Amino acid sequence: MEWINSLPKIELHAHLNGSIRDSTLLELARVLGDKGVIVFTDVEDVIRKNTRSLVEVFKLFDLIHKLTTDHQTVTRITREVVEDFAKENVVYLELRTTPKRNDSIGMSKRSYMKAVIEGLRSISEVDIEFVAASDSQKLDNVCDGIQRKKIFVRLLLSIDRRETTESAIETVKLALEMRNVGVVGIDLSGNPLVGEWSTFLPALQFARDNDLHITLHCGEVPNPKEIQDMLDFKPHRIGHACFFKDEDWTKLKSFKIPVEICLTSNIITKSISSIDIHHFADLYNANHPLILCTDDFGVFSTSLSNEYALAVRSFGLSKRETFALAKTAIDATFAEDEVKEQLRLIYDLASREYV
Ligand code: 5GP
Repeated sequence: MEWINSLPKIELHAHLNGSIRDSTLLELARVLGDKGVIVFTDVEDVIRKNTRSLVEVFKLFDLIHKLTTDHQTVTRITREVVEDFAKENVVYLELRTTPKRNDSIGMSKRSYMKAVIEGLRSISEVDIEFVAASDSQKLDNVCDGIQRKKIFVRLLLSIDRRETTESAIETVKLALEMRNVGVVGIDLSGNPLVGEWSTFLPALQFARDNDLHITLHCGEVPNPKEIQDMLDFKPHRIGHACFFKDEDWTKLKSFKIPVEICLTSNIITKSISSIDIHHFADLYNANHPLILCTDDFGVFSTSLSNEYALAVRSFGLSKRETFALAKTAIDATFAEDEVKEQLRLIYDLASREYV
């Protein structure tokens, strides 16, 4: 479906280290293999495997982090991930990543994020606008006669569920410091079987008090108390919502909290047993705000175009409905009003192709 590739798309749930090209991961693994740090053939099997349970996914992330957590590599993968999204006509990307500290290589959470920003600055294959609209580094709309892809990028800093309250607060403080380079919010992610809501609440409350936007991984495993606590916190968005009960749907809908839907991820991890019973259909029919997202396009071998194609095939969306769905994501972004206006213009210009 070529029209899905051309459709302007908005990606709001993409983890940096889950969105690495297989070719890059294999190249990095080969280098560490040559140095004797890992056994390349073991790693190769893991990277090439396409089906993984949620538990296996988190084991894979530990491996990926071994391969990627140095400044130069963080810069490289940031550049590649953004370029890959732009190439499939993602016009606005909210990229999330967990700031990491690694004393053995002199990496602090701040220097990790500097490496991410360096990656954004180093992009040359497409036009990128990633700083707040008021910043002097805003891109000019240069018209050089060559049509180039343009992507708006904003960042979310993730708190990993393995972190302590202090560490989570440190991440929020860093996010506040980095607002002038496009950081717009905080995400809570990491293995849902680890950690307690009460550990993260002070950091999330601190973020909210300082006007950062918040999105939570919510309901990835059956945990009724935590799901209710998360909904009562009224985050600006949630991701997944796979193990919701009736009372959770009622609350979610009454609070009108938009849901980031990651179809392939939910099916591969078996969080949802089959696409025809996925909650996409119920939310869509109820006109509840939802956004199709990739989660980890590298880990789950997908793309945002693929996620739209899957929704079209599985739920019978027409071209016009698909366009409308993609456009409604504008309201769920954490971007400034000026950026939302520009996105509306992009969609208005494209609309005649999709009626
Ligand atoms: P990073 O934050 O290192 O750039 O991206 C990888 C991290 O994102 C993982 O270690 C994990 O904490 C988080 N992550 C990626 N995919 C998922 C997911 O499907 N569920 C949850 N809960 N966390 C995820």
